[in-house]
Amino acid sequence: MLKVAKFGGTSMADAAQFRKVHKIVTNDDDRKFVVVSAPGKRFKEDNKITDLLYLTHAHIKFSVPYAPVFKIIEERFNSIKEELNLNINLEHEFKVIKERLDNKCEENYIVSRGEYLSAMLLADYMECDFIDAKDVIFFNYDGTVNRDKTHEKLTEVLNGSRRAIIPGFYGSYPDGSIKTFSRGGSDITGSIIASAAGADIYENWTDVSGFLMADPRIVKNPRQIKRITYQELRELSYMGASVLHDEAVFPARQAGIPINIRNTNEPDNPGTIIVGDDEKAYESKDDDHIITGIAGKKNFTVFYIHKEHMANEVGIIRSALEVFDDRGISIDHIPSGIDSFSIVLPSESVERITHEIVEELKAKCKAESVHVHKNLSLITTVGIKMAYKPGISAKLFTALGDNNINIRMIDQGSSEINIIVGVEDKDFEKAIKAIYDAFVR
Ligand code: ASP
Repeated sequence: MLKVAKFGGTSMADAAQFRKVHKIVTNDDDRKFVVVSAPGKRFKEDNKITDLLYLTHAHIKFSVPYAPVFKIIEERFNSIKEELNLNINLEHEFKVIKERLDNKCEENYIVSRGEYLSAMLLADYMECDFIDAKDVIFFNYDGTVNRDKTHEKLTEVLNGSRRAIIPGFYGSYPDGSIKTFSRGGSDITGSIIASAAGADIYENWTDVSGFLMADPRIVKNPRQIKRITYQELRELSYMGASVLHDEAVFPARQAGIPINIRNTNEPDNPGTIIVGDDEKAYESKDDDHIITGIAGKKNFTVFYIHKEHMANEVGIIRSALEVFDDRGISIDHIPSGIDSFSIVLPSESVERITHEIVEELKAKCKAESVHVHKNLSLITTVGIKMAYKPGISAKLFTALGDNNINIRMIDQGSSEINIIVGVEDKDFEKAIKAIYDAFVR
């Protein structure tokens, strides 16, 4: 059995968290490769090291002395080192970094140093190998990962190590300079390493015990999701239920490696397992709910386009889509009727140009009318088992009807793993509670 464990920012936030990580890793010999984030927040008002590094870069860019900000970073790492009694020569590391900052202001290099130092400290503390991500994660100049080269190198390097700590979030360009993923990207590093190592499981340690069936700010004590498929997860995270970086799923999924979301502060909790799409369909004894989770977002806008005899016309939807394409605006849903269809998208992307778009839609589609409806919330109810069971939508709509909630839109993906309803923003919380109560309580 081989496990790759990735620890996020809050798991690396201070010496106390390092101790927990040490214990979790040494408790299980299978946890051979460990990927870490930079130290995150210790408490709500605290700063993430990566944010401070971005700030350092901004200071340099605008020729403001960066020393005061960098000092806060040094102090954070020094305090971890001192509390854990480590030998690592941090002064030397800081000197190298500052020399480079004084010479050249490369953002990617600067912001990657949080992960670098975090991994150096942990490798020292755990007395195991440190593998610099720049030597094993390779990017192409277009910003994509060079999968083959990365895979090849990782296989070689990992094979030679009994246990290793690897910084997340960055790799290198063909010329050796540092390139980072987007924010939260250590999740991606972990997934790539799990895939190259041929891990049996990719553990993603964070500060929550996996996914909950609904947002706990809306539903009191929602149940934890024990198993979820990649596809279900995608539907839920698209609607805001995010614990994992979006792109982190792909390498593990491709290699058929389940991802286990675990809580560093509650290591006995088994967390949530993300599995392949077929593995979950009918299983499991302790997972008796027909739905897997509910998530939603407020603030959508609907353009409702009506035109008599539209059904007989070719290309009308395309003409409407061009209006958005031309402005680089992406669309979420296109529910349609016989003589009408709607275009649903986040309000923020059309906020200042709504009128302009209405006029253009009227002209391009030669529509009788174009109405705009704002303040729509979308709620998705997800569950791979829904496709196999009749009566689910009836139950959902009854729950909303019984609670006097007006449904403004309905959409079901063709994979039938979710039903999306649109309700007024004011009914958002009430609707989520009603759906949860109908299916889970
Ligand atoms: N430290 C980086 C960030 O805050 C990457 C990560 O933590 O995954 O975005």
